[in-house]
Amino acid sequence: MEQLKQAIKTKGVVLSDGVLKVDAFLNHGIDPVLMDEIGKEFAARFSQDNITKILTIESSGIAPSLMAALYLKCPLVFARKQKSLTMNAEVYTANVYSFTKETHQAISVTSDKLNKEDRVLIIDDFLANGQAALGLASICQDAGASIAGIGIVIEKSFQPGRTLLTGAGLRVESLARIESLSNHAVTFVDDILSEVQ
Ligand code: 5GP
Repeated sequence: MEQLKQAIKTKGVVLSDGVLKVDAFLNHGIDPVLMDEIGKEFAARFSQDNITKILTIESSGIAPSLMAALYLKCPLVFARKQKSLTMNAEVYTANVYSFTKETHQAISVTSDKLNKEDRVLIIDDFLANGQAALGLASICQDAGASIAGIGIVIEKSFQPGRTLLTGAGLRVESLARIESLSNHAVTFVDDILSEVQ
């Protein structure tokens, strides 16, 4: 997705060989025009999949997921990282290792938000080691819901997340795929492929 790649190139900050900061437009400051395009792109990729619900994780997954939900005309549910006082119903929980915080965190969704009739699109802002997406997938499984696929805004293809998820039989659609963050520069998978061709 060209607009997203441009935003990453011009506004992203490479913090290390493994971490990209995109708080100018995706997960702290949010660019609504770009989120709208991201939502349209996810909707186009999953338009034939009869999606009944989008599932994401707070807080960074919410903005792109909301726009995708608007275009797919389905509700959005986000997993909470902290149990709220209002979550007194039965909950589905998964234990997720956080890539950025380097700690384990329980994430949960109340059981009335997902059911076995649901066909779920899981969305997240980044894919690194795949732990957040796997946690969300396990919540879908607990609810008996089927998973149409995983939509990722920015995939770091040099980390093992994609292999783990596709190995588990899950379809992964990423809007930008990063081959490397070495030397403080972002290189996209497409750039490498077009050099080879
Ligand atoms: P995973 O669970 O795939 O290891 O990591 C995905 C989660 O970690 C995402 O929800 C995202 O919030 C965070 N994350 C992973 N890599 C990065 C990164 O390079 N930059 C930022 N800002 N967040 C990241």
